[in-house]
Amino acid sequence: MAPHQPNNEANSAPFVSADTRALDDRYVLPTYGRLPLEVVRGEAGELIGADGRRYLDFVTGLSVSNFGHCHPHVVEAVRKQVGHLIHCSNLFYTRGQAELARRLSALSNGGKVFFGNSGAEANEAAIKIARKRVRDLGGGGIVTLERSFHGRTMATLSATGQREKQAAFAPTLEVFHHVAAGDLDGLIDVFRAGRVAAFLAEPVLGESGVRLVPPDFLREAQRLCLENDALFIVDEVQTGLGRCGAAFAYQRYDLEPDIITVAKSLAGGFPMGAAIVGTRAWDVLGPGDHGSTFGGGPTVVAAALAVLDLLEEDGLFERVESRGRQLEELFAPLVKMGAAREVRRLGLMAAVDLTRPVAQEMVARAMDAGILLNATSPDTLRFLPPLTVAAEEIQRVGDFLLAELTGEPKAPEEQQ
Ligand SMILES: *Cc1c(COP(=O)(O)O)cnc(C)c1O
Repeated sequence: MAPHQPNNEANSAPFVSADTRALDDRYVLPTYGRLPLEVVRGEAGELIGADGRRYLDFVTGLSVSNFGHCHPHVVEAVRKQVGHLIHCSNLFYTRGQAELARRLSALSNGGKVFFGNSGAEANEAAIKIARKRVRDLGGGGIVTLERSFHGRTMATLSATGQREKQAAFAPTLEVFHHVAAGDLDGLIDVFRAGRVAAFLAEPVLGESGVRLVPPDFLREAQRLCLENDALFIVDEVQTGLGRCGAAFAYQRYDLEPDIITVAKSLAGGFPMGAAIVGTRAWDVLGPGDHGSTFGGGPTVVAAALAVLDLLEEDGLFERVESRGRQLEELFAPLVKMGAAREVRRLGLMAAVDLTRPVAQEMVARAMDAGILLNATSPDTLRFLPPLTVAAEEIQRVGDFLLAELTGEPKAPEEQQ
């Protein structure tokens, strides 16, 4: 098929041009298991393939493009900025960086902000702060959760509670203790056994299939941190900035974290990570202790300021929650009819455990039907639609799943 010719067939295989596949195979290090789709453009809630076919995007770059692709407000802000100043250096002041820090602080714990370029770097900063803070007391361990994901650098891989990801790179950093989410006795044991510098957790374990950490457990962890002079840190790289129906997921549980890490959706698709550091830790790092060449640079900052404008629009969080409820209700028949075991959700972050290990096959069939989904395991599908998703788009995905997994035909007026 010739590239860039619109392909409007109702059901057809996705497309990768032979040249792109050959170049990628030969020259790109194979660290990703790619899906067979070559993307050339994004428009709001859709990605467009090299053959012109449109795909409803329920992956959003894993909760990066939360306001859809190429949102005009973000595009305009970046266009304007790149004509003025693309980069200077953190040797100099820029108004945008200071303003972005103020707005992130106002949205969260009133802290001060360190800017990096990714989720891993945001967590890396939090880990370094926790370590340095207890340095003169002889150090201390950091507690993280089993099945957590905190990044791919050596420190964040060490923090990540997944042995299988660590095995090839051992020895990992020896400061981390992993506790199962909800295992309060196990957590108390770690605090009893020795000095703890920090507790670090995702409020919802995203990469492990949207597993909600029990709020009571998080509240107890926060209490233990306060009692033991440790930092309470939440990794909101995936859950943050509206995804869970609040600026941050922790706000739905009335927590008060010392450090909040963010990235993914923060700059609307440009690389940015940030650690928002509250009063108990904001004097730990001084000049020369940490830094980043690109962190908080003018271009990504312009993008992030535009994203925060969108985030602060009236009624957004209510809409996220009601669309999330709609999504959850569409899954209920799957459970009733024995195709799914469990549905988990917070805001517009959702997953379904299927009763058979067909998640990867469903991802492929969804692509044939013009829908992009993500599998986090052989039997778990994850749903991360844009926060701006329309009710009809959610219905379309629900109809697809019902038809594929239970053989129920979809209602004629809902066919697209
Ligand atoms: C994606 C993710 C990270 C890592 O972010 P990168 O930008 O890929 O380094 C860390 N923590 C959580 C919870 C994530 O979802």
